Amino acid sequence: MEKIETKTIKVDSKEPNKEPIKEAANLIKKGKLVAFPTETVYGLGANGLDKEAVAKIFIAKGRPGDNPLILHVASREQVEPLVEFISEEAEKVMKKFWPGPLTIIFKRSSLVPDVITAGLDTVAIRMPNHPIASEFIKASGVPIAAPSANTSGKPSPTEASHVQEDLNGKIDMIINGGSTGIGVESTVLDLSETPPTILRPGGITLEQLKKIIPNVVEDLSIIKDNKDIIPKSPGQKYRHYAPKAEMMVFIGEVSAIIDAINEYAKKYIAEGKSVGIMATEETKDKYKEGLIVSVGSRNNKETIAHNLFSTLRLFDEENVDIILSEGVDLSHIGKAIMNRLKKASGGNIIKL
Ligand code: AMP
Ligand code: MG
Repeated sequence: MEKIETKTIKVDSKEPNKEPIKEAANLIKKGKLVAFPTETVYGLGANGLDKEAVAKIFIAKGRPGDNPLILHVASREQVEPLVEFISEEAEKVMKKFWPGPLTIIFKRSSLVPDVITAGLDTVAIRMPNHPIASEFIKASGVPIAAPSANTSGKPSPTEASHVQEDLNGKIDMIINGGSTGIGVESTVLDLSETPPTILRPGGITLEQLKKIIPNVVEDLSIIKDNKDIIPKSPGQKYRHYAPKAEMMVFIGEVSAIIDAINEYAKKYIAEGKSVGIMATEETKDKYKEGLIVSVGSRNNKETIAHNLFSTLRLFDEENVDIILSEGVDLSHIGKAIMNRLKKASGGNIIKL
């Protein structure tokens, strides 16, 4: 692949200056690639109606062509031309959760290029809740196709420096708006079929959705550990978010988790391996050896979601051989955290 110069511009995420955003939007209009912050993770954007531009996303990320992309919009009006119809259910959900970390799957219109949907008859759309993202989409004047701005398979980027590590020389611009808020990707909700189905857990929880659409269910692939269940969301079948190191995730009583991690750490260190321990504020002092990093507080799982991917990247930088990670309970954003940990570890979950 031809190396291109990646320009980074810094923009204040609270009060974005319109000039640099216009410059970024002009690149989008010319079919170029621009990474930008959202409230979940950094996205790698291209004009979603320009199939050549979208094809470049797959090349830059090394993303499999059968993994469809999410289109990002800045207004409700932008949705209409992209979909066959908007159901009453969809109206309600959009009104409640947009802008925000919820992606909705609709039946697509013929305006959406096949490269976006990987040939499916549906399209994924989201309206991000981030001042830079909204300004940037508005200024571009088109829906922006944007997967996470990382190399496929690696932990998602929550800082502009993560995007630089993965995509420098492969994309045209990075808008540096500081660290992203939520830290895990959007919830993917399929409204193209009945009942409404969550295909990927994320920033908006099942409990929140149930209040608006009581018949919402979770895809079997989220609930069951059975490897024979094929997820409906093509992206969910790949190993994802993975650090270089081997990874084990421990679930159960917190005291049992601490004992097990201490035991495994001792064993691996005795074998001459370097060990990273993904601990929490409440437990970090209980570990005896290894590189101990607190990912956040068990009493405030939002902090864990926020730090999750950057902690995995930190272990990569430190070249640890094994990551021993605490698991969390599934309430609130815990389900999204455990989904990412499960994928990052390749399903290496130890139940205590
Ligand atoms: P990413 O943008 O990398 O976080 O991934 C987007 C997620 O949305 C992946 O898991 C995709 O498989 C999923 N997705 C995108 N479009 C569709 C669609 N039309 N139907 C089902 N899942 C989709
Ligand atoms: Mg991704």
